[in-house]
Amino acid sequence: MLAKVVRSKAVARTAVIGLALGVFALAVLAAVSITTNARSSSHIRHASEISNYWSQFDLHISVEAEALNDFMVAEKFGKDLLDSAMNSAAPDLEWQRHNGDPDDVRNADLAGDAYTAYTQTLFELRRSRTDQERTHDLADQAALGSSLLRKTANANVTRHRLAMEAYLAADAEFNRKLSLAAGVICGADFLLLVLCASILLTHQRRIEGQAVESRYRALHDELTGLANRALLADEIDHALGIAGPENESVGLLLLDLNKFKEVNDTLGHHAGDLLLKEVSARLVRAVRASDTVARLGGDEFAVLMPKVDSAGHCSEIARRLLDALEVPVELDGVTVDISGSIGAALHPLHSASGAELLQHADIAMYEAKRNRIGVAVYDPRADRHSSQSLGLIGELRRALDEDELVLHYQPKVAAGTGRVAGTEALIRWQHPVRGLLQPGDFIPQAEESEIIVPLTDRVLTMALEQHRRWRDAGTILPVAVNVPTVCLLDPGFPDRVAAALAACDVPAGVLTLEITETSIINDPVRASAVLTRLREMGVRLSVDDFGTGYSSMSYLQSMPLHELKIDRSFVRTVTDSHGGTAIVRAVIELARALDLEVVAEGVEDEAALTVLGEMGCTYAQGYHISRPVRPDDLIAWMERSARVAAYR
Ligand code: C2E
Ligand code: MG
Ligand code: MG
Repeated sequence: MLAKVVRSKAVARTAVIGLALGVFALAVLAAVSITTNARSSSHIRHASEISNYWSQFDLHISVEAEALNDFMVAEKFGKDLLDSAMNSAAPDLEWQRHNGDPDDVRNADLAGDAYTAYTQTLFELRRSRTDQERTHDLADQAALGSSLLRKTANANVTRHRLAMEAYLAADAEFNRKLSLAAGVICGADFLLLVLCASILLTHQRRIEGQAVESRYRALHDELTGLANRALLADEIDHALGIAGPENESVGLLLLDLNKFKEVNDTLGHHAGDLLLKEVSARLVRAVRASDTVARLGGDEFAVLMPKVDSAGHCSEIARRLLDALEVPVELDGVTVDISGSIGAALHPLHSASGAELLQHADIAMYEAKRNRIGVAVYDPRADRHSSQSLGLIGELRRALDEDELVLHYQPKVAAGTGRVAGTEALIRWQHPVRGLLQPGDFIPQAEESEIIVPLTDRVLTMALEQHRRWRDAGTILPVAVNVPTVCLLDPGFPDRVAAALAACDVPAGVLTLEITETSIINDPVRASAVLTRLREMGVRLSVDDFGTGYSSMSYLQSMPLHELKIDRSFVRTVTDSHGGTAIVRAVIELARALDLEVVAEGVEDEAALTVLGEMGCTYAQGYHISRPVRPDDLIAWMERSARVAAYR
């Protein structure tokens, strides 16, 4: 409960504001206290000064009275004394009139009158020394006046003393209240300070906890909790760093599960996740504590062994891992067999750096997969193939710069009438040494490298520019472009397509993008987002090589598609086997039910075209109609076929 309060943002805000207000209140109290004290001491100083002047007045009167006594006793000696004492209290009264309180001013005026009369009496007394009786009367009168004046002085002194005492008492009361308020505010501030401190500590602890957690997340796989690629790279560098020349080798195993995609497709992602967790648990159990098991993504795992004796030792461990995986696993009530392919590489035997160790283990893993041998240790001879492919990618990069890529176009016609409904752009590479290369010679390698992205962008622009040229020459020919998986999963791809359309001033409706079933199935969520944006832009979407993806067809309902292109392997058999006919007919029915257009690819003869027309297939494409040709040849072909149609 307390922890919840401390964590609440509103409480934190209130505590900070409360503390600030408390500190402000203390400052106000201090200011009030300082000004009150200053005012009090000035008041007291003034009051005691007034009181002193009244005392001084009293003193002067008593001195005058003493001088009068002396004068009465011995006139000869007391005369001068009386003369000097007479009227000596007048300045005191004058002072009161200028500096005293209103009461003092009034009292000074009254006392002044009495003092003037008193002084007058003394003067008279000084002059009438011959008349004894008159002198004694005056002396009695003076004694009376002196006593009255002294009483007045004392009364004023007492009045000031009492006023001062009352003032000090009020001041003390005020100070007491001030101290009480300061105490209460200090107490509240202290509590708020404690609250703020605990809030700060809680937040600091939380931030530290989050930092630890995000560091953990950055270095670990969320699903299995194993190290991820980043942590594995660190661990490899560390292992290579401490492996001296005479020490044992560092071994790296890369494992790829077989047929994991099928488990995901058929049993669902939940089962796929369970399988991955089970595999990671088995791998961790099968290796030493000093080894690092990592998940690199998808169904790819790695095991780093900081100490192995030899390549043989490495493949022995790899076999043990495969054995550990072999025991079937039960996923949501279904028993599934697990198997995998492992590639092994060693440092320093096979690689000088961590990156090379990973790359070579990867090559070995593909070797194991391709040859279905379970485990393969890196073999530089087998790597030649991949080096060649690397060389090819380099050459392709140059080909892009040198504009060596060309597009051939194959027409797509209405199956019933033969009317040209569009063309498909198919890439060729005019290689300076090897001549005209077909897509099969370089597209598969390009699709494994990121060069496929600029290559696709180039093909798109070239096809749209060609469409513009045809349009400017008076022929509207919609174009289709083949799109690889990587583009379909790239959220930036629709923007690039939009930019290409805008740059070539071509409406989106004349562009069809051909995608494959597998690229949709690989990541349906991301693919769907990209396809939806493309469709919203007005671009047409076609599923190429339909029927070869051996996947569930549920995506047909959810994806925003326009067209299915039946793979030529089915079209080839449409006339000569009952099964082929049935499949093509089923696809046409399916497309009709889903409101999709159908294109039959690879139509190689008239008989197939006729059968397809009868089945209700909308469009056809194939060598029988036209091979892929250069753009100018396509226009010539169109003119020729238009003439033939007119002749018929
Ligand atoms: P695809 O998209 O299914 O293209 C149709 C392929 O079938 C073309 O091969 C075409 O020449 C061939 N073909 C057409 N009619 C017939 C026929 O009647 N009989 C036979 N046997 N074959 C026929 P091509 O041009 O060699 O292209 C092969 C594949 O390369 C394409 O298959 C496509 O997947 C890929 N490809 C071509 N151009 C590009 C491109 O620009 N980008 C990407 N990513 N892939 C491309
Ligand atoms: Mg195609
Ligand atoms: Mg195709």
